[in-house]
Amino acid sequence: MTRIAIVAAMAQELNGLKEHLINPICTPYAGRDFWSGQINNKEVVLVLAKIGKVAAATTTTLLIQHFKATQIVFTGVAGGIGAKVKVGDLIIATELLQHDMNASPLFPIYEIPLYGRSHFPTHTRLSFELQNVCEQVVQEIQNPQTTSLSIQALRQGLLELGLPQPQLFNGLILSGDQFISSQQASIDLQKNIPLALAVEMEGAAVAQVCHDFNIPLAVLRVISDKADDQAHLDFNRFIEKVACFYSQAVVLNLLSRL
Ligand code: SAH
Repeated sequence: MTRIAIVAAMAQELNGLKEHLINPICTPYAGRDFWSGQINNKEVVLVLAKIGKVAAATTTTLLIQHFKATQIVFTGVAGGIGAKVKVGDLIIATELLQHDMNASPLFPIYEIPLYGRSHFPTHTRLSFELQNVCEQVVQEIQNPQTTSLSIQALRQGLLELGLPQPQLFNGLILSGDQFISSQQASIDLQKNIPLALAVEMEGAAVAQVCHDFNIPLAVLRVISDKADDQAHLDFNRFIEKVACFYSQAVVLNLLSRL
């Protein structure tokens, strides 16, 4: 049986999705609340990742082993890296890397010892579906006639924060156990890993666990800040006004397609 796990990084995102759950059952387990039920006739389980790589890896393992998730979709926010990625943009991960892994000189920098790799890919088909949905959401934001409440709220939030029309990218996302909030740290990441589009604290850990269990994964991150000296301010405003509406609009639409 197919059971799609939706892993959110923020309580606000999860609450918006929980409202749509049919026959909701909450199972508290290992300090997490796992919500199972149906959305758009799909069996789903919703959970907060918790913050950081270890917490996210535990959550992912439990989803697969205990809650029998057969595919995982992660939604959250991230800091944008490089000049082209702006607050409000959407990034779909093609692969993820732990930027704080360094066992050199025993292993090349960023390589996960005994895995022989530093980059963990996401699932091509699931990511393609996610990309199609995101493209549609980005287009709908421009359509003043839209009847979708989450899209209307999104447009309003972007307007209030003075953000431009969002752009959609796909590529490399970095994860590490640090909230990156200085211009220098952001520049260093960009210099060391030039292909990186965004930085967050969980995705690469989720991708490593999915790799271990051969479970399809897709990751969406909305850019909440530029991982610079302003990051903590931008971050909080963005969550309230924009991020939670993105996950609703995107996940509900995705579940109707899978
Ligand atoms: N105040 C928040 C926690 C913030 S931690 C709360 O109580 O929920 C930041 C979260 O957003 C992490 O889950 C991380 O994945 C993501 N994130 C957003 N911007 C980031 C940045 N600049 N650096 C690292 N992680 C970032």
